[in-house]
Amino acid sequence: MEKLGYVPTRRAEDADIVVLNTCVVRQSAEDRVIGRLSSLKPLKNKRPEAVIAVMGCFVDDMSALQKRFPYVDAFFKPSDVKGLSEFIQSYQSALRQAQDTALRFTFHVSRLTPVSCYVPVIEGCDRFCTYCIVRLRRGQERSRPVDEIVEEVRCLVERGAREVTLLGQNVDAYGHDLPGQPDLADLLTAVHGIENLWRIRFLTSHPADMEERIIDAVASLPKVCEHIEIPVQSGDDAVLKRMVRGYTVDQYRRLVAKIRGRIPGVGLATDVIVGFPGETEEQFMNTYKLLEETRFDVVHVAAYSPRPGTAASRLPDDVPREEKERRRRIIEELQEDIAGQINRQLLGETVEVLVEEKRKGKWKGRTRTHKLVFFQDDGDWQGKLAQVKITWAGPWSMQGELA
Ligand code: SF4
Repeated sequence: MEKLGYVPTRRAEDADIVVLNTCVVRQSAEDRVIGRLSSLKPLKNKRPEAVIAVMGCFVDDMSALQKRFPYVDAFFKPSDVKGLSEFIQSYQSALRQAQDTALRFTFHVSRLTPVSCYVPVIEGCDRFCTYCIVRLRRGQERSRPVDEIVEEVRCLVERGAREVTLLGQNVDAYGHDLPGQPDLADLLTAVHGIENLWRIRFLTSHPADMEERIIDAVASLPKVCEHIEIPVQSGDDAVLKRMVRGYTVDQYRRLVAKIRGRIPGVGLATDVIVGFPGETEEQFMNTYKLLEETRFDVVHVAAYSPRPGTAASRLPDDVPREEKERRRRIIEELQEDIAGQINRQLLGETVEVLVEEKRKGKWKGRTRTHKLVFFQDDGDWQGKLAQVKITWAGPWSMQGELA
């Protein structure tokens, strides 16, 4: 879109073209897309020449969507960037003919490129986790070539980015479909060579695909942060089997031990689903015990909700909603306690923070292990590395002062 002459605006209401990029992996995400689409309707009423386009995995049955959201100008399947750009080009020429005037552009942005950017490197997934809709909506794995990714990251860095997160539904599978089969370790090495890029992260990892080469790359490449997101989903073998996750709890434990052995001080995050069909109290407690014993820095916990079309949606959803909520709260309370203890160990320590922005009068940034840190200072710290002494630590964030 930048090549076509556009720049981002801060508010959708100011834009000539609004592209809603969607994810519907969870029902709540799908609900948010619908809410956001409804909130854009007044914009279209007020400025009919403004374009509203929707892309991503919300776009499934196009004719049904067109009927439901008649004020949306175009829908594009996930990753159909070419379709979007062709549509915009024909829209531009139609508009020029109609108005004999160039498009209005809005320039309300103080900073075009964030300090920390996301770069998709592999789309889709070849796994068959029974609760997951990604395979249905995003299709099979398709990796982007290493050169193309390096070029994109270089562009972002030229415009001010200092950190990139390489993204994939299963990022560890990167490259197997490309000529010469480069893997994620090769990609990390290639991106690592970019000057003025300071930090590299990647997510999300799959426990069965996290090869030793990837762990070694994190351990040996200084720009790759000590931060790994590796969803376990359940701490019970029978539940993992019903989820078709492809590993056992014991294999997961050994993987965590290997990661911690190779990457000292690594920040580990995980995802957990509670109330999966057939999950007994004992099976839930196995998850609880695994989290208690592993002590992750971050745990994202979700109560299971069936997604139509998935294999798990055909299993009886037999854990009552209140019970799922109870299990979710128990995990959250446990994690709050653990994360608070882990973060308090940093009290009095000095950490390196990459500063992203100022929020409510305080600078906000993250440590290499992905911990959120706030500090106050009159200087301009955006996009800089600050040494911050931690003076307060809670489970979700920390406060400090410049060291
Ligand atoms: Fe979905 Fe992740 Fe399983 Fe792929 S690995 S099917 S994206 S949960």
